Amino acid sequence: MPHAKGHPLFKHNSFRIRLALWFGGLSLFTLLSVGIYAGWLTATQIKVTAGEAVHANAMAAAELLGANLYEREMDIALVSQAPHFVRGDLSDPDVLSSLDRRLDMRNEFAWLGVVDAEGTVIQATNNMLVGQSVAQRPWFIAGLQGVYSGDVHEALLLAKLLPNPHADEPLRFIDFAAPIHNREGKLVGVVAAHAHWNWVTETVQAVANRREHASDSEVLIVSSTGNVLYPQALAGVSRLPDNLPHNKHYSIVTWDDGRDYLTSQVTVDARSNSNFGWRIVVRQPLENALAPIYAMYSRFFILALIAVLLFSLLAWRLAQTISKPIEQLAAAARCIKLNTSAPRYPTDTSLSEVAQLSSAMQSMTESLLTRERELELLNQTLEQQVLQRTEALAAANKLLEHLATIDPLTGTNNRRRFDEKLEDCARMGKRTGRGFSILLLDADHFKKVNDNYGHPVGDAVLQQIATLITNNTRTTDFVARYGGEEFVVILPDAPSETEVRTVAEKIRTAIEGTPFPSVGHMTMSIGSSTWHPNDSSTTQVIQRADEALYTAKASGRNRVVAYGQQ
Ligand code: GH3
Ligand code: MG
Ligand code: MG
Repeated sequence: MPHAKGHPLFKHNSFRIRLALWFGGLSLFTLLSVGIYAGWLTATQIKVTAGEAVHANAMAAAELLGANLYEREMDIALVSQAPHFVRGDLSDPDVLSSLDRRLDMRNEFAWLGVVDAEGTVIQATNNMLVGQSVAQRPWFIAGLQGVYSGDVHEALLLAKLLPNPHADEPLRFIDFAAPIHNREGKLVGVVAAHAHWNWVTETVQAVANRREHASDSEVLIVSSTGNVLYPQALAGVSRLPDNLPHNKHYSIVTWDDGRDYLTSQVTVDARSNSNFGWRIVVRQPLENALAPIYAMYSRFFILALIAVLLFSLLAWRLAQTISKPIEQLAAAARCIKLNTSAPRYPTDTSLSEVAQLSSAMQSMTESLLTRERELELLNQTLEQQVLQRTEALAAANKLLEHLATIDPLTGTNNRRRFDEKLEDCARMGKRTGRGFSILLLDADHFKKVNDNYGHPVGDAVLQQIATLITNNTRTTDFVARYGGEEFVVILPDAPSETEVRTVAEKIRTAIEGTPFPSVGHMTMSIGSSTWHPNDSSTTQVIQRADEALYTAKASGRNRVVAYGQQ
């Protein structure tokens, strides 16, 4: 197994990392899916709830405003039918006191007055505008025709006379007017009232404040043409979006400030013939409505993150219970490769599969190690056997060499060995420039020995001759059986002719003087010759010795003849 780099816990392909990532990823995916779906459901629900709340606010404000407008209109209509008017007396002081009472009772009225048919103010609260002509005012013209409610407008005539409670905005009124008929049914004038616009906006705002659930929703009064009349900050600046549907309680639309609002519009039903067509609009920024969702999301994401971390940690721990014993198995298995002692595989795992694997590996390792030990023993035995065999072979080789070079009967060197030695001496001689001599020895009348005493006695004689030759030469001399009853001696180191003769004579006299069992006395003829460094081959020295030997035989045997001296 390759030894991977880095800590096994943090290898990207480790089981733990993978399991932890998978668990984390899956839990993240699941939680996100559920969270996003739940969030979507909740958002939908919240939009419905907030939208309905916005609509309820708009409805309540519109209904109250409608009722209040109608009530003020009826009020003026009733005043127009008061008994003194029926009498046709527009300057009756009771008329003024009746108007004053109303001014006191109803704070919303800024001015109440009676105008004659020509448009001159006859009586009015606080005597304002009395004697002035209002013939051109729209409320007067309309009031001559019937009960009238007039749309909001800035105060023209009264602006200078009345205190303005809201200095930051212009003094604005809505008008109520009704015709005055005398008993005969003749139009004698108009009774009119100017109500503060603030009364309208406060009515609406009061309802909105009372009813709304979210403090961030706004209530607006919008004209029939879609222009915002209230609040003042938006008046003349903002318009109701054109795409706002009429048939829905609420909808999400983008206003001219670029923001999305949950918006609901309800038309104010004034129940009179002079309907202004005002609309109460309540709007709430969508992001405010959805704020709880965002809060929920952020909480959810924190929880989801914690859950994902916990899941991943759990997976990590779980993977550890599986991967740890596997890593231990791997480490134990590596011990075999490192040739340390028999590994101990983990047994303390709670996973049955890993336990099985561990015990299987344990028994496999043990059997492997046993087999290895057996092999080692076998190897040792084999090595020993090879050693023995090698020794035996060496001995056999030695014996073979011995047999190949030693003459079996006499124990001296054989002819083959002699040939080698002769060549060696010739090579050495050529190098040193020094010659050597040989003696060729042949037993005299040996045939007779065989014939007279038998072959085995002849063999014994040959053995004794060999011993005598060996005993009468130096260890540096080389003695060999040349063949049959012939022997040869090599005398190295360029001996002089005298030395050669001395050695040859020594041998000859030793044989001559030695009794041979059964046979009595034996003699030998010896021919000698010398090898010279300029000899072309070794056969020459043999031939010369042979010639000398022949001479020795021919001249009577039992003598030494040196080549060239015969
Ligand atoms: P000469 O004096 O002329 O040398 O006479 P000789 O009888 O020695 O002559 P020859 O060389 O012809 O005979 C040698 C004999 O040596 C012949 C053979 O039977 C005998 N011989 C050769 N090898 C052996 C051997 O190994 N053992 C025995 N017992 N006899 C051998
Ligand atoms: Mg012979
Ligand atoms: Mg012979």
